[in-house]
Amino acid sequence: MKTVTHWIGGKPFGDASGATGAWGPVTDPATGEVTTHVALAGADEVDAAVAAAKTAYATWSTSPLARRIAILFRYRALLDARRDDIAALITAEQGKIHSDALAEVARGLEIVELACGLGTALKGDTSTEVSSGTDVASIRQPLGVIVGISPFNFPAMISMWMFPMAIACGNTFVHKPSGKAPSASMLLAELAAEAGVPDGVLNILHGDKSAVDALLDHPDVAAVSFVGSTPVARHVYGRASAGGKRVQALGGAKNHMLVLPDADLDAAAEAAVSAAYGSAGQRCMAVSVVVAVGSAGDALVSRIAERAAQVKIGPGNDPTSEMGPLVTKEHRDEVAEYVAGAAAQGAEVVLDGRDFTVEGLENGHWMGISLLDRVRTDSDAYRNEIFGPVLCVLRAETYEQAMEIINGSPYGNAGAIFTRDGGAARRFQLEVEVGMVGVNVPMPVPVGYHSFGGWKDSAFGDHRMYGSEAVHFYTRGKVVTSRWPDPAETATGPDLGFPTSR
Ligand code: NAD
Repeated sequence: MKTVTHWIGGKPFGDASGATGAWGPVTDPATGEVTTHVALAGADEVDAAVAAAKTAYATWSTSPLARRIAILFRYRALLDARRDDIAALITAEQGKIHSDALAEVARGLEIVELACGLGTALKGDTSTEVSSGTDVASIRQPLGVIVGISPFNFPAMISMWMFPMAIACGNTFVHKPSGKAPSASMLLAELAAEAGVPDGVLNILHGDKSAVDALLDHPDVAAVSFVGSTPVARHVYGRASAGGKRVQALGGAKNHMLVLPDADLDAAAEAAVSAAYGSAGQRCMAVSVVVAVGSAGDALVSRIAERAAQVKIGPGNDPTSEMGPLVTKEHRDEVAEYVAGAAAQGAEVVLDGRDFTVEGLENGHWMGISLLDRVRTDSDAYRNEIFGPVLCVLRAETYEQAMEIINGSPYGNAGAIFTRDGGAARRFQLEVEVGMVGVNVPMPVPVGYHSFGGWKDSAFGDHRMYGSEAVHFYTRGKVVTSRWPDPAETATGPDLGFPTSR
């Protein structure tokens, strides 16, 4: 049995005997077997991780930017060389297919590359002679110890959304990955150390709610980056911000894809299948709802069903698999419950994936593809984030009716429109209440130099992930007004008036 311990102060912390506290099981989703035990932090480990980060902050925050950037360049090269190994760890614990895991690593690398160019983003502004002999400079400085808490579905990418930008800005970091898939972040930390990231700058702490809450309450933590489900995001945002910390907390999603009758329906069906069932629907950017307008409905549903039925489901390390298992047996059973209850709540069950299994791997967390048509907005399958390979189709008579459905959702992560009508697409961009919009693009995950984040119950806090918003989140502004009078100037005496430009 493999064990995963914490990574504190640049080395593994604790030992395999369990002396550091409790342990949690990590399962291979394709076999259903427990392969790993992961340490669960108690109060002492939380304190040790934060203390290591706080100590490292004193020197890291004042280290030259050029030195930090040079380390990040080395880190980028090491990550690039180890893409396959990181992807294999993701597949073994999260279950997604290897090519998808590689794509996750590639999207994470984008943010490391962004951090390598931080010099440009971090440079301040100066105004000279704003008043006689007076200059003003705006500068940005790091915050201190940052905590990052990430979900199971992107065990490497979401960690890479957070700590590379945070440490490049001069902060130090305590990362709490999901206990369901903890190994990838350990490799990320080992490679960071190899690249020259000093001890204590990046720490990995594993744990459950009690460890998270202890981090949220810790007086030496300055800010929290969170990505996960909406209820936990709301909790993290409320608790940490009540303690005076800066918080960004990205939550769950129910992403709608609006299809107008003039769309290329073959392309729309392919996009819907890819975005709904990729990674077994366990993506916050997955399309989980298609809203078909008018005559698009029947033609689209039959095209989606035809293509979805051909998706090859199997273990993530089999190169012929297109979709892997769900992360845990409990999650698999919850997803199956939505399909079981759908017909009683008015849906037409076009495809039912509940009975699917893989020969020889019957204990894996398998779920086939499900397609529910004519789903009602008051049904459980529509109202909740299912986070599995279940696509709901809703019918609308008009664009306006479709938009009423979409904007009525409490979630606002992403939304897409499929149409050939530029005017309709433009209207959708302006009217849809989501943070990321796709036009004939089903999963509009922004590139690294644009920021990522949703609206409404999909994100709490004012800053989004990566891009320029990450620089703002991980630094605070300071404005310096300075005057160097000519030594020959004679003092004119006190002036009790409020300063104005002269
Ligand atoms: P989750 O909310 O259960 O867990 C996220 C993190 O919070 C984990 O590290 C977990 O250990 C911790 N946690 C869990 N319960 C907690 C609690 N009660 N108190 C404190 N901490 C707790 O999410 P998950 O199941 O790991 O991931 C799937 C969810 O993440 C989905 O809802 C998905 O939409 C969302 N997600 C959102 C985005 C985004 O960018 N908006 C990206 C990826 C995933």
